Amino acid sequence: MNDTATETPKPEITDQTRPFWEAAREGRLVMQKCAACGTVNFPPKPWCIDCGCRDLPWTTVGPGGTVYSWTISRSVAMNWPGWTGQLPVVMALVDVDGGARTYAQVIDCAPEDIRTGLRLVVTMVPVGEDVFIPKFRPAA
Ligand SMILES: [Zn+2]
Repeated sequence: MNDTATETPKPEITDQTRPFWEAAREGRLVMQKCAACGTVNFPPKPWCIDCGCRDLPWTTVGPGGTVYSWTISRSVAMNWPGWTGQLPVVMALVDVDGGARTYAQVIDCAPEDIRTGLRLVVTMVPVGEDVFIPKFRPAA
C-alpha cells in the first residue's frame, strides 16, 4: 500500500551518494575530503569545489557538530504531508567537526532550546528498510 499521507520521503540513492548512505547504515557520518587540498566537499560531488581534483575519498567526520543557524517549521514541513506528525520540526545548519556545514533535523530538542553554538551529536535514524538518515540531537 502506498499511503502518501503518512509516508515520509526516502533518500534517492545514486552511485554518487551510495557511500554516504552505506556509512549511515553503519552508524558513521562520512563526507568527501579532497586528497589534494583537504577541502571537505558536501553534498557529494564528482570533483572538489576548491581545486577540481577528482580524488575525493570518503572520510568519517563528526560525530559532533555545532549549530551555525537554525529554523523551526511549524507547518507542513517542506510540503511533505507525512511529516505533519513530527511538527514542530527543528532544522539547523550544522558545522560538523572535521567536516563541512550541512543541513539536518535536530531531534530531542524543544524549539525553545535550539540556539546558535549549541553542541550536537549525530544519530542515524531509520526511515525505511535498511535506510538511515543522519540527524542530530543535543550533546549530553
Ligand atoms: Zn581540493
